[in-house]
Amino acid sequence: MALKLDGKQLAAEVEQRLQAEIAAGLAQAGRQPGLAVLRVGDDLASGVYVANKEKACGRIGVASYRTHLPATVTASEVLDKIQALNIDERVDGILLQLPLPSGLDEGPLLAAIDPEKDADGLHTLNLGRLLKGEPGPRSCTPAGVMALLARHQIPLQGKRAVVIGRSILVGQPMALMLQAANATVSVAHSRTNDLASLTQQADVLVVAAGRARMIGAEYVKPGSIVVDVGIHRLPPDPAQGPDAKSRLCGDLRAEEVEPLASALTPVPGGVGPMTVAMLLVNTVARWQQHCGLPLSLRDLLP
Ligand code: NAD
Repeated sequence: MALKLDGKQLAAEVEQRLQAEIAAGLAQAGRQPGLAVLRVGDDLASGVYVANKEKACGRIGVASYRTHLPATVTASEVLDKIQALNIDERVDGILLQLPLPSGLDEGPLLAAIDPEKDADGLHTLNLGRLLKGEPGPRSCTPAGVMALLARHQIPLQGKRAVVIGRSILVGQPMALMLQAANATVSVAHSRTNDLASLTQQADVLVVAAGRARMIGAEYVKPGSIVVDVGIHRLPPDPAQGPDAKSRLCGDLRAEEVEPLASALTPVPGGVGPMTVAMLLVNTVARWQQHCGLPLSLRDLLP
């Protein structure tokens, strides 16, 4: 039976720590940390994610400033808003919620965010800092995975790690972080031949392919650590009758992997809550920096 790598539990612990750090620095800083959340258009899932992030801010004492622009907005109007947030002294972190409506190119807009206020850690400068091992905001999802592995004292040095997925959001920074922790890392992607023979060598397997229930027992080395980054909503199963509800699942066929792996992240309740927690870590760390406070969160930023 695999150990459950409980992201919900760890995210709650991280929030408690952040709350204490904010309380400790508030008098010297003279203001709360601030996160600006910029949403464009009406993507439904984005609406839920934004609401979750704002709730998390409220729980720990981060002020959240929401801007919701219509899908018809022009790139230059979004740019104006980002530039206004860049110089807003209440704001330590800026988050541009993705995906953007079709017709808006995220590249130049992400690049316009002040790298010192880059709550998502996706700015080119911050990806470069990660590559070079320099401190800075880190991509939230892979940073959350690293925090989960560290919390469970999972050794990475000298281990064979395989990351499925090479996106800038997840796969690439994940591979860099595992490598920085001295794992030997391979990155698989949609053009990889014979994926199973690669993943079967993995002591640590991180799956971020964005394909619901793609990875089952035949891909997994017995005793390995398996992290499921994927998140998908499946339609109700008609076999469960007319009252069946939609369900969440990951990129794993978890029921097959669970008996084989030594540790596994659940979906939901694994990587998802850690992504939000790391957004808060990035924001509070920026606040400490902007306000000249001691930088006490380095251990949480891989
Ligand atoms: P993406 O679509 O940008 O990238 C998917 C990657 O997987 C690509 O590099 C592609 O080459 C690779 N891939 C696709 N099919 C493959 C296959 N058959 N074999 C091997 N590789 C394959 O997706 P993303 O933004 O990196 O996100 C990946 C998943 O993680 C999605 O399900 C997404 O919803 C989820 N996600 C979850 C969180 C969270 O907080 N839990 C955060 C970000 C992303």
